[in-house]
Amino acid sequence: MKEALLILATDTVASHAETSASFGGLTLRPETLQAIRQLGWDQPTPIQQQGIPIMAGGKDMIGQAETGSGKTGAYGIPIVERLDPASRIVQALILVPTRELALQVADELRVLGRGRRLSVVALFGGHSIIRQMEELRHRPQIAVATPGRLLDHLQRRTVHLGSVAVVVLDEADRMLDMGFLPDVSKILAHTPPSRQTALFSATIPLEIREIAEQRMRTPTWVRIAAPLPTVDSIEQFYLEVAEQDKIRALRRLLRDNGVSSGLVFRRTRFRVDRLARALGRDGEVGVLHGGLREAQRLKALRAFEEKRTRLLIATNVAARGLDLSDVSHVINFDMPEDIETYIHRVGRTARMGRSGTAITFVGQYDIEMFDQLRRRFGEALKRHPLNVYA
Ligand code: AMP
Repeated sequence: MKEALLILATDTVASHAETSASFGGLTLRPETLQAIRQLGWDQPTPIQQQGIPIMAGGKDMIGQAETGSGKTGAYGIPIVERLDPASRIVQALILVPTRELALQVADELRVLGRGRRLSVVALFGGHSIIRQMEELRHRPQIAVATPGRLLDHLQRRTVHLGSVAVVVLDEADRMLDMGFLPDVSKILAHTPPSRQTALFSATIPLEIREIAEQRMRTPTWVRIAAPLPTVDSIEQFYLEVAEQDKIRALRRLLRDNGVSSGLVFRRTRFRVDRLARALGRDGEVGVLHGGLREAQRLKALRAFEEKRTRLLIATNVAARGLDLSDVSHVINFDMPEDIETYIHRVGRTARMGRSGTAITFVGQYDIEMFDQLRRRFGEALKRHPLNVYA
């Protein structure tokens, strides 16, 4: 518990809007600066600006940031700076959830480490283990690995982690989702206790917090707020409608209000399914939530993009990070939990300069959140003209 308190005490929050200094101000080696130029990066991103000095100072760190924040550079740059190219043994280990991420991270580290002649191996399942053993015989200093395959190598004694100075757990929340945390613990036991540990994750659920408390030493927590979309070009409406009449209101909107492609948000996957069933089986409705298999998800998205379904009913989580190009209406069937969620949801319409409309249903249980929305958006949030009860 002592460590948990210290984590909170060192918490820093940065926003994407913050202007960053240059890479030159971070006192990096000329070889690294050259590699950064090769990658075409002009300025450090906020997670790089904050994370590089922490990691370069040898401190443990938790980086709470989404994919796309530049987190690979945030740990990759200090790693290539501090490894010893003359020592032909694995000195840095990056654990990642998927093969795709392993390849992507390995590629970026290869570019960053080239000037210092550091060599990188990617170890992941579904690929010849014999080939990977050959690559390991070239004695790379950096290993990027998925947990299952790395354990396999450890059991075969084809890789040795006794000299690892830095461990990174990348996309830790996805490793948790995929059930890799027990493997991660086993792997950490093969590394020296004196190692530096960094953990990157978009969210920090309890299990991840426990890892931080048990496996890290007073980590500094850097949190990068996800960038908020702008809602200026969106027409925002609210519609007062009793909970039990929301379906009727939605049907009226579909009939009278030119909803050509609507994204409808509900709070849970059960509510998503229930609404889809209630709207009938006319094939015009798709669903998106965490209970779907990848193939079902892609099918629902494709049908919506190709306008074969007119409505996509989704949970927040399922819709996170989606880039749907043509959404005419966002309908908050269930009130969002907070302002940030509201902005993320509503920002799904009016992409790329198009105009868009957002309609938020306000039921009898939503008054508190509705007050918050009104305080935040004032006149920009207008009463919708539809009369559900006429
Ligand atoms: P990541 O969050 O590490 O997956 O990075 C997301 C993307 O941003 C990758 O394509 C990186 O090459 C790119 N990127 C990382 N850092 C920077 C930077 N400082 N400037 C511009 N692009 C960057």
